[in-house]
Amino acid sequence: MKKQPSIFTDPMLSIVVPVHNEAEVIPDLLARLDLVSRQLEDAVELLFVDDGSQDNSVALLMQARHRQPAIRVVQLSRNFGKEAAVTAGLEHARGDAVVLMDADLQDPPELIPSMVAEWRKGADVVLMKRRTRAGESWLKRTTASIFYRLINRISDASIPVDTGDFRLMSRRTVDALNRLPERNRYLKGMFAWVGMPTVTLEFDRDPRAAGKTKWNYLKLIHLAMEGITSFSTRPLRIALVLGLLAAGAGGLFGAWEVLRTLVFGVSTPGYASLIAIITFLSGVQLLCVGLLGEYVGRIYMETKQRPVFIVAEDSEDVARPALPQLRVAGNDQKH
Ligand code: UDP
Ligand code: MG
Repeated sequence: MKKQPSIFTDPMLSIVVPVHNEAEVIPDLLARLDLVSRQLEDAVELLFVDDGSQDNSVALLMQARHRQPAIRVVQLSRNFGKEAAVTAGLEHARGDAVVLMDADLQDPPELIPSMVAEWRKGADVVLMKRRTRAGESWLKRTTASIFYRLINRISDASIPVDTGDFRLMSRRTVDALNRLPERNRYLKGMFAWVGMPTVTLEFDRDPRAAGKTKWNYLKLIHLAMEGITSFSTRPLRIALVLGLLAAGAGGLFGAWEVLRTLVFGVSTPGYASLIAIITFLSGVQLLCVGLLGEYVGRIYMETKQRPVFIVAEDSEDVARPALPQLRVAGNDQKH
């Protein structure tokens, strides 16, 4: 029989799961997590961050909490997006190691014991690399692959290909992450920036167990812009070079036109080439201005210094009832 872990002596493992309208998978998720936590020697904290779910995800979790006291539910005040939910999870987790996983069971919880084993051997980060991506469309796989190639070419911290947020992190890694103050949180880039000794394990990514993906191409494009502009100023330099090249070419062309006029006399209209050049140059200018705008916008968001998320309720606080008001004898006779 397994010895009961003690929260006082044994290291604790936090499993952080962002949840946004996942009622359909929660029963399955809880059952599988329960089985896994029984296999682990450590005390386990199951930390669910509810990212403004509108279905009964929270009700299901709170109900399960009666049976499994290891469950903790941090409810955000509205939908802040996955990156913010994960940030909230990392800030609230108390474990000596923190595992991050999706609610939809695409990241099999059964792999957690092997991740913990690597951590015990000394790894600070145990990265889970997808060998296959079942249930994801060809288009999603290709765009993802192009994006990673692009971002690694232009940004300073290199992001490992085919890894998501499914990972284990040591306490010092999580502390380091929690110290990063930026509001625009591109977590994959932040993980890569923090570094730390890393072990990579391969796994087969399952299709979503139930429910629908919360992901769409608009969000993906947004995240991609975030990823590129929050981790590198190199695009600014690319814009500069582009502008220089275009201006240089325009100058040369102008000189050539002057020369041609001097040698051969007034040339034929040349209207088309003029328009072509004007549109090209204004295109380059707009591109550069837009790029600058992206960065200025980011500076604006950062200077507002708003928190990344707002917690509406933490099941931990609810569990501790407020102390009853002390009544001093003779004090409550108001009349
Ligand atoms: N998620 C979240 N907030 C959101 C969108 C998603 O917390 O606004 C959570 C979601 O509940 C899941 C994880 O992020 O646990 C990944 O979402 P999803 O499976 O929809 O993304 P995909 O795996 O398709 O990229
Ligand atoms: Mg998913």
